[in-house]
Amino acid sequence: MSMSATELKQVVEADEWRTAQSQFDDAAEIIKLEPWLREVLREVQREFTCNFPVRMDDDHLRMFTGYRVQHNINRGPAKGGIRYHPDVSLNEVKALAMWMTWKCAVVNIPFGGAKGGIIVNPKGLSLNELEHMTRRFATEISILIGADRDIPAPDVNTDGQTMAWIMDTLSMHLGYSVPASVTGKPIEVGGSLGRIEATGRGVTICAMAALEHLGRQPHQTRVAVQGFGNVGSISAKLLEEAGCTVVAVSEDYGGIYNPLGLSIKRVLEYRAREKTLNGFPGAQPIGNQELLSVDCDLLVPAAIGNQLTSRNARDVKAKLIVEGANGPTTPEADAIFRERDIFVVPDILANAGGVTVSYFEWVQDLQSFFWSEHEVNQKLKAILSRAFSEVLKTKLEKKLDMRMAAYCRAVSRVAGATRERGLYP
Ligand code: NAD
Repeated sequence: MSMSATELKQVVEADEWRTAQSQFDDAAEIIKLEPWLREVLREVQREFTCNFPVRMDDDHLRMFTGYRVQHNINRGPAKGGIRYHPDVSLNEVKALAMWMTWKCAVVNIPFGGAKGGIIVNPKGLSLNELEHMTRRFATEISILIGADRDIPAPDVNTDGQTMAWIMDTLSMHLGYSVPASVTGKPIEVGGSLGRIEATGRGVTICAMAALEHLGRQPHQTRVAVQGFGNVGSISAKLLEEAGCTVVAVSEDYGGIYNPLGLSIKRVLEYRAREKTLNGFPGAQPIGNQELLSVDCDLLVPAAIGNQLTSRNARDVKAKLIVEGANGPTTPEADAIFRERDIFVVPDILANAGGVTVSYFEWVQDLQSFFWSEHEVNQKLKAILSRAFSEVLKTKLEKKLDMRMAAYCRAVSRVAGATRERGLYP
């Protein structure tokens, strides 16, 4: 069946790689980047695909496809998460890798950008199958990853356990432990205090800084959060602690809404017990699309990409959007938000708390010297607050939106490193 023109437009709009390249092109134009650097930086340096078998519990073999992409490594080793999701594609992983390069540059930590993923719905696998798939994938990408080359971290549907398996697999190959080869690990194997909360904490730091800039108080701020995983649930919890009222939260199957506010502590307890948000007492059900246009002041998309598009951007009520997720907004939706004067704190700044504390974890592992949680949180706040003020300053000086201001700073930094290193050979 052939697609209608509207359907085709939506498919094109939903291509993250197109989004990432178009954002880069806009920034390159604004900073008047030399043509050769545009050509280099709008591509990924390395893209790796592997197809590999895993023995399932019932003894049959199942093939999986996985990717690891490194966009740019001129400022340091490549860094980026690994995602398990049925919609993972090479284009998505390339976009996510490019965004990692800009993210590390915008907060000025010495990493390049990478990303990886497996096309899989991990909820359909047993723990044993998940472990075997992870260890085999770690082996496939072991020709690329390592403490001084490319350092994975958790992303959608992966966590500390996944990282421990990857670290153990690499260590078994070498015959000694290499904790610095992955971040987001459990504390017992060299993880950092504060890493689990870091992305949500960064979202909250950026939200508070944006509210201050907009002259609004946290206690006047009603929040809707899409996605209640690592980033979404911790953002909701910390925003509530900062004085905001969280009115809606959701997961992939839908969510819950209470215009008077949800107690996030209770929602977390309920979800831990019931394994779902559905049926939370005192709240009404809300669909994922509905949540994006719910009456609120601050919207935190913290699930997956392409949630805010030309189809729903005009329905958004929030005046402030802080992007916990990577790539939740298409360029078409961005244009609508600019026109509607909605203040968007872009993903490469808003969710950079995760990679910042991953950097701290890597530094601690390399030195075998560990910091207190207070030290970690303090250093995170210093880095993110400074990055936010620098981006805001560029925004005001150059009359840009926050995304382009962040891009201009990040691309200039990466271009600077690439220019200094020169063209090899
Ligand atoms: P997670 O797996 O812990 O949680 C993902 C959440 O999104 C879950 O609540 C899931 O139900 C929900 N979700 C999935 N598909 C959805 C859909 N179609 N509609 C609505 N909700 C959906 O993942 P996470 O680590 O919290 O990552 C969330 C986002 O934040 C991703 O875009 C990720 O790239 C980004 N991010 C994560 C980190 C990190 O440190 N974990 C850092 C930076 C950015």
